[in-house]
Amino acid sequence: MKERGLNPVSIDRRLMTKLVLFAALLILTAAYSAPAWARDAAAPAALSDAAIQQAVTEAYEKFKDDDSGKNADYISALSKVDPKIFGITVVTADGRIFEAGDTRAEVSIQSISKVFTASLVMQQRGAEFVQEKIGANATGLPFNSVMAIELHGGSAGNPFVNAGAIQATSWVAAKDSSERWARIKANMDAYAGRELPFNQEVYESELNDNKRNQAIAKLLDAYGRMGSDPLEAVTVYTMQCSVNVMARDLGIMGAALANHGINPLTGKRVLEGRYVPKLLALMATAGLYDNAGDWLYAAGAPAKSGVGGGLLVVIPGRMAIGTVSPPLDRYGNSVRGQKASIYIIEKLGLNPLAQ
Ligand code: GLN
Repeated sequence: MKERGLNPVSIDRRLMTKLVLFAALLILTAAYSAPAWARDAAAPAALSDAAIQQAVTEAYEKFKDDDSGKNADYISALSKVDPKIFGITVVTADGRIFEAGDTRAEVSIQSISKVFTASLVMQQRGAEFVQEKIGANATGLPFNSVMAIELHGGSAGNPFVNAGAIQATSWVAAKDSSERWARIKANMDAYAGRELPFNQEVYESELNDNKRNQAIAKLLDAYGRMGSDPLEAVTVYTMQCSVNVMARDLGIMGAALANHGINPLTGKRVLEGRYVPKLLALMATAGLYDNAGDWLYAAGAPAKSGVGGGLLVVIPGRMAIGTVSPPLDRYGNSVRGQKASIYIIEKLGLNPLAQ
């Protein structure tokens, strides 16, 4: 009787098993000691504090004397804001802060508030609700377009044009409009990690200049798309636009999104992690309105602008860039904010589409 162990087939099998195990070990060893170029491709190299600060300082120096663009004037209080204000703040996803210029000068947040109200509606009602009720597509038309609504069968398009933002405000779950406002404000404060001041002058001025927004809200109501009384929604929306922020606030608010929904300074969760990519997708699609495509082509990063001169750029998983500079291009986006952000992104190799 043959011994099993001497069976040539068994020997081959054992040898094969050993060879397979050995090969697996080799592969694992190779993976963990991959050459530097391979590791860099998998995970972006950590940037030193000095490198980030240098990029921020350079961006400030390079564009501080650029006076192209013009303050918004369709809201009269905005035309009176000092156009020279220029501040840049970078906040990393782990809470380090780098600044240059007037990072404590405040402007009204305006349309950047739309990000946080959309975040609140998403948190309360889910990502599908936002997509179905409001939309997740670019309109290709200016942020206050009435025609966009008509062209799209009564849909606002996305929560970052005025129509979609007023709609989002109306869908914030609350018993009445004062509670709705309180929730919107508390949510923005949580993102910023401080109680943001209210700009009464901008609010009153905008109340006198918001007939167009009232018309938009009434039109959406006629299409059955509003969650509350349309004119009340416009008032709450106007209030949320009149909250003051500085570049530093915008950097921190953006860093909460870069940090998967947790404010890195307070440690407080402001949005469930699974909704963060949805909100960033909306920012990439429509954050800079009808110029969002050109912006993405240059920067590769989700962003949101406001006609007060603020701009918030998110580099997912890594950091946010908050800038304030009131003069705008013809689309309503801060000229220096865009230039400075693109400079920092290029200098530090942050373009998310190039990772
Ligand atoms: N409050 C402004 C408006 O309703 C916001 C617009 C903006 O920042 N693009 O027109």
